[in-house]
Amino acid sequence: MEEIKFDPEICNQCETVDCLMKCQYIDFADVAEAKTEKLKINAGEHSRVLDECLTCYACQEYCPYDNNPFYLLVERQEQLGLLPAPTPIVTEQLKMMGPKGRIQNEAVSPPVVNMCAFPMLTGCVRGKLFEGASVIVGTDIFCNIMWLHFAKNSTIKERVPQMIDNIMNYYLKDSGVEEMICFHDECYGTYTSVAPAYGIEVPFKPVHLFDYINHRLDELADLITPLNVKIAYQRPCSNRLIPQTDLVLDEILKKIGAERVPRTYDRETALCCGGVPRAHQRDNLADELVEKNINDMLDVGATYCIFNCPFCMATLGQEVAENGIMPILISDLVQMALGE
Ligand code: SF4
Ligand code: SF4
Repeated sequence: MEEIKFDPEICNQCETVDCLMKCQYIDFADVAEAKTEKLKINAGEHSRVLDECLTCYACQEYCPYDNNPFYLLVERQEQLGLLPAPTPIVTEQLKMMGPKGRIQNEAVSPPVVNMCAFPMLTGCVRGKLFEGASVIVGTDIFCNIMWLHFAKNSTIKERVPQMIDNIMNYYLKDSGVEEMICFHDECYGTYTSVAPAYGIEVPFKPVHLFDYINHRLDELADLITPLNVKIAYQRPCSNRLIPQTDLVLDEILKKIGAERVPRTYDRETALCCGGVPRAHQRDNLADELVEKNINDMLDVGATYCIFNCPFCMATLGQEVAENGIMPILISDLVQMALGE
């Protein structure tokens, strides 16, 4: 397997060190200090960043040169044995989320919607929005991007090619289908950002859920009744890997008459939902992030909190609802505008 693609010379020349200077969880005295830490990481030496990192993925978006700072950081954490979560948790998760070998050949037809490891969400694929869709789901096609939170790049390198083979050989190839809709933001991040950075080939065309919905809304324009609601968006970590899709969400919301109210913690300054530090047993930080997110949503007068990640929704959903804001997946909000 190839090394993570990154060019140390680009970092040597970099004057802003945005990857670390924009980090919302680690403080640096100045650019010089951030640069020193970044160069240590590049050289494979210990840096405090490797200990303090929340694994929010954001530096991957902050680097203006696409030099893969976060993927390299995770690589170094693993090489130096700096696991962000206790080993028993990682071991248990590795077993739980591993491929089970239960996959069977199935004929599919477009649009093929990949629900990743979320069988409980297959009911979301319904109505006119997903008319005629085939659904594929299960741990045998799990995108495995979560290992970025656990310093397990080796698991990504081992399992992602297996998942891609499963998707091709059990579903797409025999059915002559070349495109796959990624319902889960993380899947699209895996196949369009992680895979090329790690040198993994992807033989099908991944389509982000936002692109699919946006296109479908044009076809169903006559059915749209504008919602006229204010929404707060809880942007997930994986969207940092594919920031171009964030603009597509704006187009969707405009089409359904939903106003994405400008939160303090949205877009480039989005805050983690709190789920990852909870898994890392950094409970105080997790509590702080939940509180900041909820207060921010209340401050802007949102009536809905929209989610693009089931894990964020599981982490924050109840708290959001208890504060009088309706938690909802984006596809469900769109279906409301379609009268479904
Ligand atoms: S990863 Fe990007 S932002 Fe960070 S030092 Fe290197 S070039 Fe600069
Ligand atoms: S992943 Fe997030 S917390 Fe870690 S260094 Fe990058 S921006 Fe900071």
